[in-house]
Amino acid sequence: MLRRLMLLDDVPVAFVKVFAVLFGLAWGSFATVAIGRIPQGLSVVTPGSRCDGCGSPIDPAKNVPVLAWLFLRGRASCCGARIPVRVPIVEALGGALAYLACDRALVGGVTVGALALALVVFAASLTAVVLTFIDLDYLYLPDGGVVLLAALGAAHTLLRHGAWSEGAIGAVVGFAVVYVPFIWLYERLRGFPGMGLGDAKLLAAVGLWFGGLGAVAVLVLAAIQGTLVALATLLVRGRIEEPEAVVREREELHALAAQGDAEAAKILAEDPLAEAPPEGLAGARLAFGPFLCVAFLEWLFLEDALVAQLLPGL
Ligand SMILES: [Zn+2]
Repeated sequence: MLRRLMLLDDVPVAFVKVFAVLFGLAWGSFATVAIGRIPQGLSVVTPGSRCDGCGSPIDPAKNVPVLAWLFLRGRASCCGARIPVRVPIVEALGGALAYLACDRALVGGVTVGALALALVVFAASLTAVVLTFIDLDYLYLPDGGVVLLAALGAAHTLLRHGAWSEGAIGAVVGFAVVYVPFIWLYERLRGFPGMGLGDAKLLAAVGLWFGGLGAVAVLVLAAIQGTLVALATLLVRGRIEEPEAVVREREELHALAAQGDAEAAKILAEDPLAEAPPEGLAGARLAFGPFLCVAFLEWLFLEDALVAQLLPGL
């Protein structure tokens, strides 16, 4: 065992990073599949990659991350269907996040522990990317992704020999700072919640990673950026639109319920998105999960720089 560790120590960090980027690009490709399939309740494993246009299987040679999209100029080779620019962006993000994870975890050299840490950081950051796009499309954060992020937070504490109590307190604080003011109190004051339960669960997972103060920092970062994006959207478009998929799903459910479908009526009765939002800015529905995820990534990779910049006294 000792001998193997010494051999691993001889591996240059640069070599590991090159391998990590290729590994990250491949997982980025998997992430694009997960973003498309998880909200529809489909398996992310089988079948293999299929064209969104015509459903035919994609030849692995035409599925090379980023490059395939560039060579095909954003069109499927089978039927010419447009491949959204989000696909190569998520793939490239996979590569970039794998590089950053190595950069952060391998400062002390290449060891089994450092590689495991890099892997945990990478998996969490890619999970945050998947949650971002699903929430943008559907205004919902799948529990599975949030639980995975929480489990990776626990693994992160274990690998860094951190204090468990800090993570546990962080989870409670993270949940409470979203739930108490923005769901519980907001609903009593205005009759509908200001944030989703998914946002509270997500910030609980963030608290497992960074502790209570870190969770609050992530919430503040997310709120600042969310406000800026909302203002910019209003300036440019004049209003904040609901995602297409949410509008479509609601119309389908209302049509079914009108025909007497009990299942659809039941879903509508429990769904906070069952009614179209009230007109005007106060009723605008903007997914907050993406901002929490972006702030999580910022805190994960830039915590030291952000603390030095924003709170120079600390
Ligand atoms: Zn096709």
